[in-house]
Amino acid sequence: MSGHELKYVEDAFASNWIAPLGPYVTAFENELAAFTKSKHVVALSTGTAAIHLALVVLGVNEGDVVICSTGTFAASANPILYQRATPVFVDADRNTWNMSPYWLEKAVQGVIEQGKRPKAIIAVHLYGAPAHMTEIMAIADRYQIPVLEDAAEALGSTYRGNHVGLLGVMGTLSFNGNKIITTSGGGALFSNDKSLVDRIRYLSDQARDAVPHYQHNHLGYNCRLSNICAAIGCGQMQVLSRRVQQRRWIFEFYREKLGLLPGIEFQAELAHSASNRWLTCITVDPDLSGGVDRDMLLKAFREENIDSRPIFKPMHLQPIYSQFPYYGDGTFETLFERGICLPSGSSLTIFDLMRVVDVIQRCYQERAEISLPAFVLDSAYSVK
Ligand SMILES: *Cc1c(COP(=O)(O)O)cnc(C)c1O
Repeated sequence: MSGHELKYVEDAFASNWIAPLGPYVTAFENELAAFTKSKHVVALSTGTAAIHLALVVLGVNEGDVVICSTGTFAASANPILYQRATPVFVDADRNTWNMSPYWLEKAVQGVIEQGKRPKAIIAVHLYGAPAHMTEIMAIADRYQIPVLEDAAEALGSTYRGNHVGLLGVMGTLSFNGNKIITTSGGGALFSNDKSLVDRIRYLSDQARDAVPHYQHNHLGYNCRLSNICAAIGCGQMQVLSRRVQQRRWIFEFYREKLGLLPGIEFQAELAHSASNRWLTCITVDPDLSGGVDRDMLLKAFREENIDSRPIFKPMHLQPIYSQFPYYGDGTFETLFERGICLPSGSSLTIFDLMRVVDVIQRCYQERAEISLPAFVLDSAYSVK
């Protein structure tokens, strides 16, 4: 927390706006619009709700096909099933870990060959790293398919100078407890298209018609953000830029200390883009590391009481999604087998980070069946 949140929450209580609307909801929406430089923002109860309502306004229904990155958290894909549509999963490219334009086009063509046209593409900016948007948009435009950018993990990330989420028809955000800023739970949808955002605002508030009595022409939902949560969000907005700087610094620290170890690779940032580095994630290739692998690192962290976990298990390998089509060559499966998310929280101190580096260094010293040049290890310890 920044220190301002409680003051705003107390103010919300004092004003008695204890409701899913109020001055802090409006202020939070305006601050998000200013930060992302998008024209229209609607604050919602979760990032999942934002993706769901985006699919609703894009007309996704039973029998439709929606293409989605396989390398993501389940919340990106679940709304496809809420709408009883069929997900088609697309593999990642090896460097950014995001949707591969090559496999995207194969998937689009595959769906068209089956006599359907994909109703939407959900492109995720995984762990904050911007996806290949120019290439993805070129394919989407060629086949006239709207792109929804799941920027839940990427608030503060830019692509060619603009905030991510604005090249597609809509972008979605999450303020869940684990994200770069949090409202305890919350989400938002943003776009330069006023009619889409107006429509989502209407659907998120039970689709009430503008008449004095309660009248509904459409199936509504109840997923507006609480004024209390928005008050927390307004406090968090004051530190968002600093949080991005902190996360990027953490990434650079790890890269400097671990980047020379054989077999370790970091998630890449595309040219002309900047990741918020929400999480610093690495892969370790046991063929190059002399046998050090992901599970060894996970175990070593556990023994030191340091929290770490594997990167997301791809959607096409999830029991709930395994029956659906997948286009790819196993790239994200390999990333999953080798990938680990390192501690990346904004409150980590340099001493915490040194402990993390130390654990990985020791795994190499004790387990690697190769001899490492001294400078490789020296570089890791040079901070001490
Ligand atoms: C967190 C997350 C979501 C969902 O956000 P919630 O606010 O938790 O519903 C969606 N997509 C991705 C990639 C996420 O990481």
